[in-house]
Amino acid sequence: MIKELEYEVAHNLDEALALAATLGERKRVVAGGTDVVVRLKEGLIREDVLLDISGVEALRGIREEDDWVHVGALVTHDELALSPVIQQSAPVLAAAARTVGGPQIRHRGTIGGNAANASPAGDTLPALVVLDALVILGSVSGQREVPALDFWTGPGRSVCRPDELVTGFRFPKMGVDDVAGFRKLGSRRAMTIATANVAVFFRLGKGGRITHARIASGSVAPTVVRLSKTEELFRQLLPVLSLAAVRGAAQMAWKEVAPIDDLRATALYRKEAIVGLLTETAYEVLRGRWHEG
Ligand SMILES: Cc1cc2nc3c(=O)[nH]c(=O)nc-3n(C[C@H](O)[C@H](O)[C@H](O)COP(=O)(O)OP(=O)(O)OC[C@H]3O[C@@H](n4cnc5c(N)ncnc54)[C@H](O)[C@@H]3O)c2cc1C
Repeated sequence: MIKELEYEVAHNLDEALALAATLGERKRVVAGGTDVVVRLKEGLIREDVLLDISGVEALRGIREEDDWVHVGALVTHDELALSPVIQQSAPVLAAAARTVGGPQIRHRGTIGGNAANASPAGDTLPALVVLDALVILGSVSGQREVPALDFWTGPGRSVCRPDELVTGFRFPKMGVDDVAGFRKLGSRRAMTIATANVAVFFRLGKGGRITHARIASGSVAPTVVRLSKTEELFRQLLPVLSLAAVRGAAQMAWKEVAPIDDLRATALYRKEAIVGLLTETAYEVLRGRWHEG
């Protein structure tokens, strides 16, 4: 039986933040509700008030702010995937959003909910990390920004306090010398939670060498992880397209990730998967810029 809960609706941001402050740990925020409703049905909601923020206009919209992009917490996966601003300035985030669930989930599910949910398998999380995104947290006492990688502290856990809401995200626009991509492996093509996912970002310098590399992966540790040793090997690559060289650098990811066995896959499978996903993603994004020797 579904537990009886109080239901509070916030009509604007001030109201939402005031309710978050007064209700604190007693409330569970509802944005698109795609996660909350599943938990409700499974009897996993221990809070006694649902705080519906879905009508808060100030949390919607994607806007450009000079060299930055701001994405509101209530922006849906569909909106991300279809936004010309995201396609142009953060195609890795559009690619990640396109892989989330099926059409209904992408229509209702929000980026704020995906991040706040803090699942190690959340698909927008590695994309936000490689974009160097900041998570914007709001409360009645003001606003603070946390680098995406520091936002998640464990499965289902983040630094978002009970009196705070995720109000949005901001990240620098990708430039002409930047390339990025995202891949996910699941048990089937659609409506599937990632067995492993990976996002890559490379900045190419003089002669096409990789000067900045950011590689992040999900479902291979308790939270999304940056693969810094693997990034270092990519920075050392000569700017000549070679599948063997890309695979050689990607191989380091096998050592860097620490997945567990669970219902979806074994740890060994995930390690192999991440090397394959990373090889494919990196090769694909570099193919547009590097020529075979
Ligand atoms: C069938 C199915 C398939 C799915 N497939 C995928 C998939 O492929 N990839 C994937 O990543 N996810 C998937 N999901 C999970 C889910 O749809 C996404 O995480 C979605 O983005 C959640 O957004 P939401 O707005 O619906 O969140 P909600 O359900 O409204 O909230 C999720 C959690 O975040 C909290 N929260 C929401 N917004 C805020 C906020 N602004 N501030 C603070 N806390 C907040 C809520 O309290 C709750 O704990 C799937 C879910 C289902 C049911």
